[in-house]
Formats: sequence, structure tokens, C-alpha cells
Amino acid sequence: MNFEELGISERTVSQLKQQGITEPTEVQKKSIPEIFEGKDMLVESETGSGKTLAFSLPIIEKVSGDDTKALVLTPTRELAKQVSEEIEKNSPDKIETVTIYGGVSYDPQIQGAKKANIVVGTPGRVLDLLKQKKIDVSGLEYFILDEADRMLDMGFQDELEQIISFLPDEKQNLLFGATIPRALKKMCDRYDIEPETIRIKASEHTRNLDAKYMNVKKNEKLSTLYTLLEERERDLSIVFCQTKNTTRWLADKLRKNGIDAQELNGDMSQHKREEMVEKFENGEIKVIVATDVAARGLDIDNVTHVFNYDVPDTADTYTHRIGRAGRQGREGEAITLLERNDHDKFRRIKRKVDIPRMDEEVDLKDAKM
Ligand code: ADP
Ligand code: MG
Repeated sequence: MNFEELGISERTVSQLKQQGITEPTEVQKKSIPEIFEGKDMLVESETGSGKTLAFSLPIIEKVSGDDTKALVLTPTRELAKQVSEEIEKNSPDKIETVTIYGGVSYDPQIQGAKKANIVVGTPGRVLDLLKQKKIDVSGLEYFILDEADRMLDMGFQDELEQIISFLPDEKQNLLFGATIPRALKKMCDRYDIEPETIRIKASEHTRNLDAKYMNVKKNEKLSTLYTLLEERERDLSIVFCQTKNTTRWLADKLRKNGIDAQELNGDMSQHKREEMVEKFENGEIKVIVATDVAARGLDIDNVTHVFNYDVPDTADTYTHRIGRAGRQGREGEAITLLERNDHDKFRRIKRKVDIPRMDEEVDLKDAKM
């Protein structure tokens, strides 16, 4: 099944080809026809599997006229920007898009919203502009929640429901996420939305991700990470920690050992974080040491390695973390470092996700403390 057979126009197909996108991914094959049929959808498919194009392509084909036809909500401004970019890259000139998020001035967004066919934004500012009647949603045909699971995790439920109350009843609702939490299904029930559910199992994704764990002694954890970073052929790497303090401490230790690592955490200003993400995207920084919260907006393609310096709390977080590596045909490796007292927590994750032990010997290089 190729893009033409899914109903994507020749113009868009050639646009995609220029970006090296020639074959639809699983989630695209399964969702695009259903979206064209006008169904409400709940789509569960892992990070990096191509969800953005899965909802964007049919909308790009269908949207026309001068008014706002589609509203896409994302949990972070970085994601909002990425989604807008992907839509703009693939849509004809006549389709106007605007990106709406907080922390910047209102005016350009208000001007943009006046002529936008597609509005992409974060819940706070979108709600704000809806209340001010600056986004006309009276002709809205598509409502999309991207990363719906993270949206609820981040506490946007209240804003979401307020936003929904502004939207016309007759529209197509498309909910996408790496996991579909119960709270989301309940929300659908409350609004009498009965979406068709599509779940792409991990085994259906064409992935090249080698995920495993290794046991380490507490006092050798830094040396282990250092050795792994030194010995691997890597492009970009993300090292996950549980606390902001650990990100600072660890990035500092890695730098002392000659590894160009930078921390990314919620204590940093939005501006500083964006700067960091941009440098990471450009490859100026090769290793980011981050908390889960800070890494939320990091959906970057060239990540080859994910290291869990600290074990995550849940299987969902684990899946989100490792999903950063090995996206779309690139090879990736994800290694979780386990101390003795992490085992209980890790066992709970392993019950849901199959994770083998690393079978290779690592010849430890001592790291400077
Ligand atoms: P998700 O939203 O599921 O996490 P994205 O939509 O962000 O994933 O896609 C991840 C990456 O894969 C993006 O860089 C995107 O351009 C690329 N991609 C999407 N669809 C395809 C495809 N059919 N073929 C190749 N690359 C693709
Ligand atoms: Mg996405």
C-alpha cells in the first residue's frame, strides 16, 4: 500500500518524496483511510512511528476555503512548532497554518488565526484566544489531540474540556498518543464520542531499536555510562535521570571526562531550554542529560542512543524514553543501567515490556569523579 493508494494526491506524494518519505508507516496505512471516511479515531502508536503525517496528510487533502477547518492541540510548544512545520512542508500554498503558544506576543498569532485553515497550538494560549474570540471555530471540521496521553499527564484536562466546549458538535475527532489512558476514554464517553480504536502493536513497527539492560554496581555507574558513551558509534544521545540534581551532577561529571554533555531540566528558563534543544538538533551538543519532563518536547530524529541512568517509574515512561532512539529506519540502542535496588521497580516494567539483558562484556574505563 503506497501513499497514492491511500488517497494522497500526486502533489503531496512528490512533496513527501523530496524528504525521502516514500512508503507509509503502519500507523499511516491504518489511520489515513479511516480518517478519509470521516470516522472519529483513537490511535495508539509508539513515539516515532509517524503519527503526525497520519493525521496531517488527510487533513491537508481535505481542507479548503478561508476559515479555520482544523484545530490541532499538542502538549508543548516545541511539538506545536514541529507539527506546524510538518504540515506546512507538505501542504499547498493556499493552505494557511498558524502556530499558537504562550510566552510570546499575541498579535502575530491573532493575525495568523484570522486567515488560518489549520490552527496548531498548546492548550493554554488556544483557550485564551478562544475566550477572546480571536479564533473562529464555527466552521471547524477536524479536532485533533496529538500526544493526548502526555496532554493528560501534564494536567491539561481542564483546559481541554473548556476548549471542547467552544467547538461545534459536528466535527471529526482524532486522538493520537503513544498510549491511550483510561482518562481519555472516559473523556470521550462524557462527550459522546465513540471513536474507532486503532492500536499498532510494537511488533508491527519497522524499528531498528536494540533495547536492553545491564546490571551495574552503584559506585561504577558513572564509569559504566562513561565507557558506554566512549565506545559507541553514536550520533545524538539522551541520558535520562529522575531528578534535576542528577542531571546537573551527571552532565558536569561527563564534561570532566571529556564528553560534551549538557543538562536539560525544568529549572532552566524556557529560552535556555529552547536554545539547548536547537543545539542538540543541529548536533552542536551530542549528549543531553535530561529529566522526563524536560525531555517532553525532544522528538528529534538523529537520536541513536538512549541511556536510562535512572530507571523510570512506569512502563509507559520507559517506552516514551526509548522511543526517542532508532526512529524511522535509523539504528538505535537503548540501555538501562540497573543498580541492585532498582530491580523491584524494573521488574514491574519488564512485566509489560520485554527487555533482555545486555550480553556483551563492558571493559570499564575509570571515570574521573
Ligand atoms: P510520532 O508522532 O509517532 O512520534 P512523527 O510523526 O514525529 O512520529 O515521525 C517521526 C519521524 O518519522 C519524523 O521525522 C517524520 O518525518 C518521519 N516519518 C514519518 N512518516 C514517515 C514515512 N512514511 N517514511 C519515512 N519517514 C517518516
Ligand atoms: Mg507525534
